[in-house]
Amino acid sequence: MKRLVASRKLQRNCLYCNKSFKKGDVYYKHRVVTDETYFASKINLFTSEHLICARCEYKKKNTLKGKKSLKRIALTQRNLFKKYGLIFQENQ
Ligand SMILES: [Zn+2]
Repeated sequence: MKRLVASRKLQRNCLYCNKSFKKGDVYYKHRVVTDETYFASKINLFTSEHLICARCEYKKKNTLKGKKSLKRIALTQRNLFKKYGLIFQENQ
């Protein structure tokens, strides 16, 4: 999980609360590394990066619920890539 500051308004919202990010907002990036080409052409259901706002990141650290939902997303992706015989690599 990488802590970042938005340099401009971001297109994507927080994974948990759907908060939008404007310039100067702190956000966290959870990155999932996959086969980029395959990802771009075949799978549009998932994004390879999840953005999480500072508030949810804080909450996530303090509750198990947040951890679980993030794990569930990673697991869903892992299973999907296993199904297609792809190498799945998770990078935090
Ligand atoms: Zn949030």
